Amino acid sequence: MKTPEAPSVRRPEASSAPFLRRLTLSDYRNFERLECEFPEEGVAIIGLNGSGKTNLLEAIHYLEVFRSFRGVRDRELVRFGQTVFRVEGVVEGATSVAAAYDRSRRIKKVEVDALEVDRVSAGVGSVGVVAFRLEDAEIVRGGPVLRRRFLDVALSVGVPGYLAALQRYRGLLAQRNEALRRGWSSREIDAWTGGLIEVGAFLAERRATWVSEGAERYGDFYARISGGDAARLRYAASIVSGDPAGESDGDGAWTERFRRALEATRERERRRGMTVIGPHRDEIRFDVEAPEGVRDLRNYGSSGQQRTAALALRLLEADRLRERLGREPVYLLDDVFAELDEDRSGRLLRLFEAERDGQVILTAPKPGDVGLRGGELARWHLRNGRLIA
Ligand code: ATP
Ligand code: MG
Repeated sequence: MKTPEAPSVRRPEASSAPFLRRLTLSDYRNFERLECEFPEEGVAIIGLNGSGKTNLLEAIHYLEVFRSFRGVRDRELVRFGQTVFRVEGVVEGATSVAAAYDRSRRIKKVEVDALEVDRVSAGVGSVGVVAFRLEDAEIVRGGPVLRRRFLDVALSVGVPGYLAALQRYRGLLAQRNEALRRGWSSREIDAWTGGLIEVGAFLAERRATWVSEGAERYGDFYARISGGDAARLRYAASIVSGDPAGESDGDGAWTERFRRALEATRERERRRGMTVIGPHRDEIRFDVEAPEGVRDLRNYGSSGQQRTAALALRLLEADRLRERLGREPVYLLDDVFAELDEDRSGRLLRLFEAERDGQVILTAPKPGDVGLRGGELARWHLRNGRLIA
């Protein structure tokens, strides 16, 4: 598949495409100190359970979003008994990013190209990384919080202004909920309503557009991994009642919908002491077409189908990232072939081999599990947070 490109963006030659060259860790999880240089095509990291493979990928991904892909707090990332961790990565031909966190002072510092950014959010998305993890199936089968988090991370990295809007929305929501909880007057509650609608409409519109623009490609990936099954992705907005079409409407339509939906829930939100609809209640639906009709994978999918949906979603995320960067992202694959049947993992492998020429950093507990790139990737062995020859 070719990358669609804007006329002003020149796609770099494959051989000079940026890739993660160097990584330095200190006191990150079980790594006291690690310094390594990655080959351009990538590497397969082999190590026993608990050796630090996921931690290493987590550290690389940290440089993209400055939080753990496991969803834990920064202080858990500091090596036991230490106070500060530091992660630094150099993307050949593009950028360098460093992050440090001090757990005693609760201070996080981020540098992009050796300049400290005043707000961490300004450094988000600098490396261009997409992580595929075994746990991604939770996005499909777990609670809606995980699906919102997926969208929020993908859009924060890919859509200008999204992260700032999200932070504003959370602030406004907290204040409005506080007013509702205390049973304040409508006038006092509405001090927050206008802002909430404006920012919330922006978030909902961007998310719905992201999903509807990607739905076809998602369906294509799903079909290719599953061997022909039909799957659909859609944005389920809590503020849309009855008329879920119109996903591609502009901000204006979303503003109006949100306003009307808030009016309709006045009583309910007063009773419950919180704002009961809005982007903080929206989600993504993963459907498959079964002989007996359309089924929601969350409730009806087998775990292999749920994993397939999660893989298709990550492939879509990678495509969007590739369009934005004008180059391949770095692919982190954490034990992704585990738990897939042979046919599916074979098809996934071929899909990667055929269309993805970005750097691949993958992990596997056993050398036999490394099939990607014809098994020609360099192999590194990890034991207790140390690379061994
Ligand atoms: P698996 O094959 O089971 O997925 P893995 O190689 O991916 O294993 P990781 O999850 O990367 O293993 O590492 C787990 C190890 O890291 C555990 O031994 C755990 O105790 C250790 N660990 C986690 N957090 C910290 C920390 N803050 N400080 C020191 N060690 C930590
Ligand atoms: Mg692991």
